[in-house]
Amino acid sequence: MFAYAPAPESRSIVDLAPSYGLFIDGRFTDAHDSFKTVNPASEEVLAEVAAAGPEDVDRAVAAARRAFEPWSALPGAERAKYLFRIARIIQERARELAVLESLDNGKPIKESRDVDLPLVAAHFFYYAGWADKLAYAGFGADPRPLGVAAQVIPWNFPLLMLAWKIAPALAAGNTVVLKPAETTPLSALFFADICRQADLPPGVVNIITGAGDTGRLLVEHPDVNKVAFTGSTEVGRAIARSVAGTGKRVTLELGGKAANIVFDDAAIDQAVEGIVNGIFFNQGHVCCAGSRLLVQESAYDQVLDSLKRRMATLRVGDPLDKNTDIGAINSAAQLARIRELSEIGAAEGAERWSPPCELPAQGFWFAPTIFTGVTQAHRIAREEIFGPVLSVLTFRTPDEAVEKANNTPYGLSAGIWSEKGSLILAVADKLRAGVVWANTFNKFDPTSPFGGYKESGYGREGGRHGLEAYLA
Ligand code: NAD
Ligand code: MG
Repeated sequence: MFAYAPAPESRSIVDLAPSYGLFIDGRFTDAHDSFKTVNPASEEVLAEVAAAGPEDVDRAVAAARRAFEPWSALPGAERAKYLFRIARIIQERARELAVLESLDNGKPIKESRDVDLPLVAAHFFYYAGWADKLAYAGFGADPRPLGVAAQVIPWNFPLLMLAWKIAPALAAGNTVVLKPAETTPLSALFFADICRQADLPPGVVNIITGAGDTGRLLVEHPDVNKVAFTGSTEVGRAIARSVAGTGKRVTLELGGKAANIVFDDAAIDQAVEGIVNGIFFNQGHVCCAGSRLLVQESAYDQVLDSLKRRMATLRVGDPLDKNTDIGAINSAAQLARIRELSEIGAAEGAERWSPPCELPAQGFWFAPTIFTGVTQAHRIAREEIFGPVLSVLTFRTPDEAVEKANNTPYGLSAGIWSEKGSLILAVADKLRAGVVWANTFNKFDPTSPFGGYKESGYGREGGRHGLEAYLA
């Protein structure tokens, strides 16, 4: 492989303040406590961020409550104007937001710039279009908003998960209090500024920062009507318990352990691109990542040879470099978890392989890794690693592929690679997964519902279905 000269995107477009408060009732306000957010590629502190305590959460929920009546009383076409305005400002500020997201999260700029930001704007445009058509969404002639939505999101797609949560909630006439993840709070705080720029009425969107405790206070607050959570299955379970019997509506989008199934008649080069995209996109910090590769035995050698060749060309390093394929692991804690599960994989007898690759000395890094000789009993075949680690299993027949693919407590997504349409349809029909991709992987669109079976959670986000979670 020839060497690439460094091509770093300038970070001067992002104007970071030394500290940020909570965005409540249209204004930034102080909190009692604070924490630091770092750039995971360098461990440099980016800013000090407020940590919301009980009174702060009360204030935020109260602001959303006050804003609810006037906001929900607006004609849908008026709410749509705000959402269109927000979408356009996101487009105008896309480069700034992409650089910010890569700084705070560690994801490669080519992904934040070409995937995250376009999808964020698209979600606001899409749901803006629904705001005056709710009566035609299939949920009755006069669907009503629920009230105040408490929304808690993870760190893997900070701004995109915010868009998935806020756009449908506002389109349907709800007001929101959103808490971003503690390692990636900055893009949500910049979004707060966009709400001001768009003249959104105060209190319609409130952004409170903090760790898990703040999230718990928010979802347990007695005056919220709806809880929307994306994150770990463990926290999802705790939330489901805490809202049980309260009358709050809940949607949970949790983990996954998706099978990416490659049949021997597949276009192998394309399948290999799909395997790489499936597990190494966003450092594998993707709930629908194709983390279990199921390869038909007759194609095994060919697929593995091409996959290893392709992996040797992946560039790991500076997230702001436009040539980088794999950026930094989001946090020291996540890196420790990836290392631990990888060590367990090797100890349980799977064979570990990574291409030669030099990792930066500072920051949190993990080389793209595959494990072969994995069986269904291995923990790395069962547990979500949430990192750039692929477990490879084999199968002989379509039935065996389906059985292995479904042998998981999760059910968020799956991929099928074959030239034969009838085989794809027959297999897709039997997979217990919310999204099944055929001859592609990790494709997202605001018009398309996304969500899981079993321990991957319940409810759908995106599309017409995504409105249902915010309407009564
Ligand atoms: P997490 O579930 O702890 O965090 C997700 C969000 O929930 C964060 O904003 C966090 O502050 C908040 N939170 C934590 N505890 C809470 C509580 N009791 N009540 C309300 N909110 C709470 O996830 P994590 O610790 O960052 O990651 C752990 C694992 O979760 C990962 O290794 C991965 O397997 C999985 N994960 C999945 C997704 C996904 O998209 N489905 C996203 C992130 C992490
Ligand atoms: Mg950070």
